[in-house]
Amino acid sequence: MSKQGFTTRQIHADRRLNKPANGAVHTPATTSVLFEYTDAQDIIDVFQGKQAGHVYGRSSTESMQALANQINDLEQGVGAVCFATGMAAISAAVLSLFKHGDHIIVSQYLFGNTRSLMNTVSDLGIQISFVDVTSLQAITEAYQPNTRAVFTETIANPATQVADIQAIGRYCKEREILLIVDNTMTPPPLFNAKASGVSLVVCSLTKYVAGHGHVLGGAVIDTGEFDWSGFNNISPAYQVADCTQWGLTQIKKKGLRDMGASLSSEAAHKIAVGMETLALRMQRACSNAKELALFLHNHDKISQVYYPGLADHPQHFIAREQMLTGYGAMLSIDLAEHIDPIAFLNKLELVICATHLGDTRTLALPVAPTIFYESGPQERAQMGISENMLRISVGIEDIEDLITDFTQALASL
Ligand SMILES: *Cc1c(COP(=O)(O)O)cnc(C)c1O
Repeated sequence: MSKQGFTTRQIHADRRLNKPANGAVHTPATTSVLFEYTDAQDIIDVFQGKQAGHVYGRSSTESMQALANQINDLEQGVGAVCFATGMAAISAAVLSLFKHGDHIIVSQYLFGNTRSLMNTVSDLGIQISFVDVTSLQAITEAYQPNTRAVFTETIANPATQVADIQAIGRYCKEREILLIVDNTMTPPPLFNAKASGVSLVVCSLTKYVAGHGHVLGGAVIDTGEFDWSGFNNISPAYQVADCTQWGLTQIKKKGLRDMGASLSSEAAHKIAVGMETLALRMQRACSNAKELALFLHNHDKISQVYYPGLADHPQHFIAREQMLTGYGAMLSIDLAEHIDPIAFLNKLELVICATHLGDTRTLALPVAPTIFYESGPQERAQMGISENMLRISVGIEDIEDLITDFTQALASL
């Protein structure tokens, strides 16, 4: 099957991987929280992991598992676990795998809520070093004997710094530490995490994967690139059988069963339907983003465009190597100094002022006073976020209509 193209695999994945009853092409949304066992021995065996099955909706349902199989297929990993949101997936991975006294090297260019989470785990006694992940040297200098992982995003939200994941992947393999990558901005087929040496992919399914702004979800995928047998934070209870599953088993048990941010079956179903068109939407959105970036780059009322597809982006060459089918669909801009960003946003007629990204519709947001307000000016400067930056998540509209809208809004100021 893996010889087939990406979209062919995607649209047939549910029925092929999950074999829904009666020839249905979608796994249905299982609304039952509980599962009856007519032989009590069977429920005992399921609890003890000797038999597959579902016991309680917080830990698993048929719909959650069906989506996890499809997400895993997307990344060609050895397993996946789904969560209620992207933040739930990231929190579960970090809180399940690391302990007081461990050290994690974390990108200083992070989605704001992940940065805030890292500050929380730092208060719990997990040491965090925020570093410039565009420099391998900065990573190697931050390394300590208790370093257990590197955590980064592929393309940072919102200032679009690009980490050289392959180089970081080689470094982590040498050191035998985990490489955890938030791949929300560049889902497959845009970026191949497994081939780049990533150990665990974390991702918000809310964004490009589901794609329509109608459902929240998150996932952790194990690419199979990390050898868990040498990772001594795995509880003996989960060091059973095949060591490829140790990490995910612990994330599932602690992150899902104990912490409880479980994905609803209805949400799992909606995400599964949305992701059938992932590659088509991504291709269109990336091509729109590139055209819009070029248009804005050449406009005299724009002072700066942040987009990895532009030749003058500081990591353009890394992005060109690393991104397989485009440069992502998010860009940020600084307007010329005399233009009020709020007035500009209010002049846009088609583009929606909203916080979110990866939608079919194009969205724009002033970054500093909203999603990065809590960070304060110093932290924003460290993240490369200018005080007047506008983030644009480019959708799949017809490009002429987007250019027309930006043209009229800029002309009116
Ligand atoms: C949105 C986002 C998240 C969080 O995802 P939710 O599903 O909204 O919880 C994490 N990382 C990145 C890069 C994001 O853009």
